[in-house]
Amino acid sequence: MIVSNPYQPVKAEVLEIITETPQIKTFILRPETSLPYLSGQFMQVTIPGVGECPFTPSSDPKKTETIEFTVMKAGQATSRMHELKPGEAVGLRGPFGRPYPLEKYHGKDVYIIGGGVGIAPLRALLLALFHELDHLNKIELRLGARSPRDLPYKEEMIGWRKKANLVLTVDRGADDWPGEVGVVTEIMKPGDVDFETAVAIVCGPPIMMKFATKKLLELGICEKNLYLSMEKNMTCGIGKCFHCNLGKHLCCKDGPVFTWSEIKDIPDPW
Ligand SMILES: Cc1cc2nc3c(=O)[nH]c(=O)nc-3n(C[C@H](O)[C@H](O)[C@H](O)COP(=O)(O)OP(=O)(O)OC[C@H]3O[C@@H](n4cnc5c(N)ncnc54)[C@H](O)[C@@H]3O)c2cc1C
Repeated sequence: MIVSNPYQPVKAEVLEIITETPQIKTFILRPETSLPYLSGQFMQVTIPGVGECPFTPSSDPKKTETIEFTVMKAGQATSRMHELKPGEAVGLRGPFGRPYPLEKYHGKDVYIIGGGVGIAPLRALLLALFHELDHLNKIELRLGARSPRDLPYKEEMIGWRKKANLVLTVDRGADDWPGEVGVVTEIMKPGDVDFETAVAIVCGPPIMMKFATKKLLELGICEKNLYLSMEKNMTCGIGKCFHCNLGKHLCCKDGPVFTWSEIKDIPDPW
């Protein structure tokens, strides 16, 4: 019997690189073998000569020939990744983890809260939800970034507004900024959705996740309807190395998507 090696990456060619912001780029990759994934799942990306990092694809999961990752420059590996040129290759392992359970969102208002590069995984979710609009009540998006120039997908958002209600905020505005100024919790308001029955999905930096969760609970969201993308130190991706434990859970296998009811008893899960 041939057992495939879960640590063996699939080679993927860099087709195109889009500069989203001074710190964020989207990489359009063509893997040698198709790697179907669902929104919320992540992959381990090998940057040759540097190492592996976990990233959540940001592209429409229905597109199978290419996979996109939107990556913020953080340290050594992501800085090297930002130097990649079209024609070069990376390695991909995965997909891993538990995706967003889209079927559970049917018949409900969907409230999506994102911050910074956390908007990347939410883009894959949003593009997946756009295929299911007939099954949803409505989509409300509340997205934040440090400044207008730190906001990814600005052009693409024009199209999003035809299918979802989008409110943007930045910590520091600019003269030509038409959106709100303030942290993302300030644009989360009673009446945005039917909080008693809605599902809410949050992805962003830990501090934003913490305060968005608090605000959502105050607004009346049910704990089991609040979905959080938890980012821990994923290494193996397959539940072997125990680097990513979150209470009794392994973030790579049991997550990265958790409901608040599953993790609320863990002291400081952020
Ligand atoms: C499931 C998952 C999905 C992710 N998806 C994305 C994505 O779509 N786009 C994106 O830009 N980033 C994403 N990240 C974060 C990304 O993996 C890290 O930014 C990256 O590994 C940093 O590598 P580095 O060598 O450049 O930086 P390092 O030198 O390793 O670290 C630089 C900084 O980044 C922080 N960092 C390192 N690893 C992580 C991590 N696993 N999570 C959060 N912060 C980290 C460190 O604390 C440090 O402050 C994701 C992380 C996880 C766990």
